[in-house]
Amino acid sequence: MGWLEQANAKVTWPTSFGTPRTPLPDVRARLAAAEALTRRLSPAWGGYGGSAARTVWKWQPHISSPTSRHRWWTEMSSRAYGVEVAVTHIVTNQPPPLVGRDVFADDHALVEATRRHAAQTALPRLHELGVLAGSGQVQRWAVEADTNSPQLRTHDRYGSRLDEVTFHPAWHLLMTTAVEFGLHAAPWSTPEPAPHATRAAGFLVWSQVESAHLCPISMTYAAVPALRTDAGLAATWEPRLTATTYDPGLRRPADKEGCLAGMAMTEKQGGSDVRANTTLAEHTGDDGWYALTGHKWFCSAPMNDVFLVLAQTRVGLTCFAVPRLDDGVHNAFRLQRLKDKLGNRANASAEVEFDQTLGMRLGDEGRGVATIIEMVAATRLDCVLGSAALMRRAVAEATWHAAHRSAFGSLLADAPLMQAVLADLAVESEAATVLAMRLAASVDGGHDPLEHALRRIGLPVAKYWVCKRTPAMVGEALECLGGNGYVEESGMPRLYREAPLNSIWEGAGNIQALDLLRVLAREPDAVAAWHAEVEAAKGADHRLDACLHETDALLREVGLDPAGTTHLARRLASRMALLLQGSLLARFAPAAVADLFCATRLDRMEGAFGALPTGLDVSAVLDRATPERS
Ligand SMILES: Cc1cc2nc3c(=O)[nH]c(=O)nc-3n(C[C@H](O)[C@H](O)[C@H](O)COP(=O)(O)OP(=O)(O)OC[C@H]3O[C@@H](n4cnc5c(N)ncnc54)[C@H](O)[C@@H]3O)c2cc1C
Repeated sequence: MGWLEQANAKVTWPTSFGTPRTPLPDVRARLAAAEALTRRLSPAWGGYGGSAARTVWKWQPHISSPTSRHRWWTEMSSRAYGVEVAVTHIVTNQPPPLVGRDVFADDHALVEATRRHAAQTALPRLHELGVLAGSGQVQRWAVEADTNSPQLRTHDRYGSRLDEVTFHPAWHLLMTTAVEFGLHAAPWSTPEPAPHATRAAGFLVWSQVESAHLCPISMTYAAVPALRTDAGLAATWEPRLTATTYDPGLRRPADKEGCLAGMAMTEKQGGSDVRANTTLAEHTGDDGWYALTGHKWFCSAPMNDVFLVLAQTRVGLTCFAVPRLDDGVHNAFRLQRLKDKLGNRANASAEVEFDQTLGMRLGDEGRGVATIIEMVAATRLDCVLGSAALMRRAVAEATWHAAHRSAFGSLLADAPLMQAVLADLAVESEAATVLAMRLAASVDGGHDPLEHALRRIGLPVAKYWVCKRTPAMVGEALECLGGNGYVEESGMPRLYREAPLNSIWEGAGNIQALDLLRVLAREPDAVAAWHAEVEAAKGADHRLDACLHETDALLREVGLDPAGTTHLARRLASRMALLLQGSLLARFAPAAVADLFCATRLDRMEGAFGALPTGLDVSAVLDRATPERS
């Protein structure tokens, strides 16, 4: 029996009211009626002077103070509707929890982008994942995984090294679903068409549940193209990494049904500047095997099975595949401690010491950055997808809250200023989603030089802009929930703590902007690909055309002297990202969405969300963005 049936069975008509003349409404209807009565008490309804109330006070003149009148009304409404509530604590005007929905179906921008870019046969599975993601049970897993952070066990009781991290069962449940859906590495092995776009849609849905467990998922996805540099290593690892069975625990890879991969580049003295790495790699004499000695300052998901690690050989920075177990024996992978992080709490991020740790060379000596760059590119895509997912979850929560919460006599969702804020947030989210999905599709089209070039330039631009917008955007969405949004139970603080991470990880904002300048200087095809994508919407909106014209001037200025104009890199990156987003929205989104975007991002940009000009169809934007419960 569900809660509603149980409650209905419990509720009886109060004896003091005698036999009811009309059939009893069920609990849900009674709650609504009790709420409506209590709302009549609010000052916005004329308070205790409302029409029904005035009649009552005429024959109950002894109930004179506002407090006693409030108590009387509350008690009467709760008695009349058979709802057992303490007189002082009737709960009204609180939105129902946002559960029991299809997270995928609710997200119109994502569904449309999936239809454009992914296999249509994937839609039923994405709906299944969406229903799971929207269920109350899975939402509880997310909270449990987040509030029960992983624990590091460095040693056993006898003092022998363990270097193990243990996780709450909820983490494993989240991981199981992610792997079974193939969000980790399945696109690299499936014969299905457009597997990367399909995976991206799934990633966008499932990340809305809990972001932290997507870190090992992303790294596994990203490791495969880098591992393909070496046919032998790819043959060893790829079948295990692409398997759709989650098989945690430190065991011989050959005995596991599925494996996961990580990466270790960042050291204490430098993360962006990996050439400052001091970890040394010495050839062991065995073909391809090296012994690594040094430290890594950040190594997330350290319980994964294999890591791509950068270390210095005599020739220079080189990439290695470091397994946690070497032929069944523990490879020295000493977990010094876990980071106490702002967010991303369900995931473990470790400091690791290597001491004669065995690693197999991946790619040529001295070509470490070139080898690992494919992994970096794939994780950057996931940073954009992950940020788009955070935005969508934030918009869903904010619009849902506003659709169920009243203030000053009207629903928040009907207040024009709140509508402006929500519509602005919704458009930000939609723009992030369409851009992320477009870039995922460019991975599927990688054999086409134009698509390859678009991905090359689109990734730094999108990672810079989308990830940078996320903290401000999520903060504004949190505010839409008022004080409730600042309270852990709302889920918004978890989103807010997670929001800055994608901008830092895998190259912070400046690094992305500088990478854009590098592309401009070295890869003219990439600029042409960006142009072709933006110009596909030429003529659709005069603000888009004008912004393109201005940005072309900026591109020329930077192109003349890339080294002398690095201070312009952020300005250029944000404009190029906005133009990509604007072009996609102008072509594929409803007119109201594209119009709001062009008016507020391309024409002029205010500092805060919700500062809209007049004449925009905010209702159409909001109808599209507000979730529905099944
Ligand atoms: C939760 C978490 C998990 C992580 N997991 C991993 C992992 O699994 N593996 C891994 O290898 N790393 C990991 N990292 C590390 C992460 O990738 C780095 O922190 C990031 O790349 C930035 O490097 P840094 O911290 O050394 O900062 P720095 O390189 O010192 O940069 C600091 C600031 O300076 C700016 N900056 C740097 N150079 C320039 C320049 N030339 N001009 C202008 N500005 C510049 C940067 O944009 C940044 O804002 C993780 C980090 C976090 C927070």
